[in-house]
Amino acid sequence: MSQLAMVIDLNRCVGCHACAIACRAEWAVPVPYRRNWVKRLGPDATPKGLSFTFYPGLCNHCDDPKCTTVCPVDPEERVFKSKSGKTKKLAIRATYKDPFTGVVLVDKERCIGCGNCVEACPYGARYLNEELDDPKADKCTFCVERMAYNLEPACVRTCISGARIFGDLSDSSSAVYKIVNSGKAIRLQSKEVAIGPNVYYIGKDKDILLLKEKCTPHERKWENVKVPMRRGILKAAIRKLAKAV
Ligand code: SF4
Repeated sequence: MSQLAMVIDLNRCVGCHACAIACRAEWAVPVPYRRNWVKRLGPDATPKGLSFTFYPGLCNHCDDPKCTTVCPVDPEERVFKSKSGKTKKLAIRATYKDPFTGVVLVDKERCIGCGNCVEACPYGARYLNEELDDPKADKCTFCVERMAYNLEPACVRTCISGARIFGDLSDSSSAVYKIVNSGKAIRLQSKEVAIGPNVYYIGKDKDILLLKEKCTPHERKWENVKVPMRRGILKAAIRKLAKAV
């Protein structure tokens, strides 16, 4: 089964934010929200002076995405189709993992804007767009919409240093497959939060150590979304009521 994935090379990232700006422009993401970020870690003392590590991040399109489990919208059957024409029927909520690409998506038509998925993500990769009259959850889609036109994700296309490498982990000829299977790439997960993120990082030992120390999630945030069904629906109803008055 395909799983689209990204490898980020910390050696190449210069912290210019072009990827984050391209993503904002492509998907009209309003400030202060973001689908894609570049955080600065450090400074670190080195023999040559101070140095920073840049941490580009986005939704990890996890193998076991906890964001999808707290969605209170009733499951509905959908038929998914692969590129080769295979089909698969799944009952999905308003957010789900595509069985053929491994991409985690939000169905904006069905999202009720409760924000449960935003709370549940241990990576802080989602936001609730309250700029809309009818707020919706939003996040990185790996630009699947661009892929339909054979275009790379906007962040990959824009990165000035080629720090973002994108491809299919099931394709042994892809660069992501080769890097991930070389054993050199790490992913940000802990024993508490081991949900199989599909964004990988490579770089110098010191950068990788800092990244792991500062950015590995340990809190099982989805467990704090206690009664997803009732609470989610209630939250969305209260928000709509507050907007109406
Ligand atoms: Fe869901 Fe967060 Fe994983 Fe993305 S990073 S799939 S939003 S749990």
